[in-house]
Amino acid sequence: MVCVAVGVTPNLAWLAGSGIATDQGILVDKRLATSSGAVYAAGDVVQTRDLITGKPLVSGLWTNAVDMGKVAGTNMAGGKASYEGGLETMNATEIEGLAMISVGDILAEIPGSEVAIRRRDGSYRKLVFDHDRLTGAVFIGEIANAGVYTALIRSGKQLGRLKETAITRPLTYADFCVGR
Ligand SMILES: Cc1cc2nc3c(=O)[nH]c(=O)nc-3n(C[C@H](O)[C@H](O)[C@H](O)COP(=O)(O)OP(=O)(O)OC[C@H]3O[C@@H](n4cnc5c(N)ncnc54)[C@H](O)[C@@H]3O)c2cc1C
Repeated sequence: MVCVAVGVTPNLAWLAGSGIATDQGILVDKRLATSSGAVYAAGDVVQTRDLITGKPLVSGLWTNAVDMGKVAGTNMAGGKASYEGGLETMNATEIEGLAMISVGDILAEIPGSEVAIRRRDGSYRKLVFDHDRLTGAVFIGEIANAGVYTALIRSGKQLGRLKETAITRPLTYADFCVGR
């Protein structure tokens, strides 16, 4: 099976002449304020940065849009909230009964990244590490506790002894809380 995706390109044409700065998406600061200051932006139309790689990111993901919406809404209402960035890759799908999850820097784009792959009983697991931080994960088949791995990727937590465990058995929420 070959799957092809075209990606997401925001329509920015209507902002021409508005004074609101754009690049691949609407440019915002960490408060998600646009260059006009009084106008905020969130969601698919915005250019932020990838939390893991730091690369510019125009996200097409609902989860990132929700996170941004909360930050922009809080700041528009006079509160203080900061958006540090989203995950470019965060996909979950099931094809013909085969579950698949991919999160974070799955192509190991951070220089010096280490990749660990485990194949067992028809399942595939790939983990990407930047020293002892988990930066990316792919699960095919056995997807138990993928949410814990996602939380570890987002948190940037140092894994210590859990780095070995992460590839051999599913890490649990308790592992995440205790850390190394
Ligand atoms: C088919 C499909 C499947 C998807 N599946 C997933 C998935 O599995 N997981 C995931 O994380 N994400 C998925 N997404 C992406 C997700 O839906 C978006 O990332 C998310 O909805 C972005 O939210 P948003 O508020 O930025 O934009 P939108 O949800 O697109 O909201 C923009 C709103 O603005 C309105 N609007 C547009 N122009 C104007 C105008 N001129 N005046 C007033 N209103 C206007 C639109 O009608 C719309 O209601 C999918 C998207 C599509 C299309």
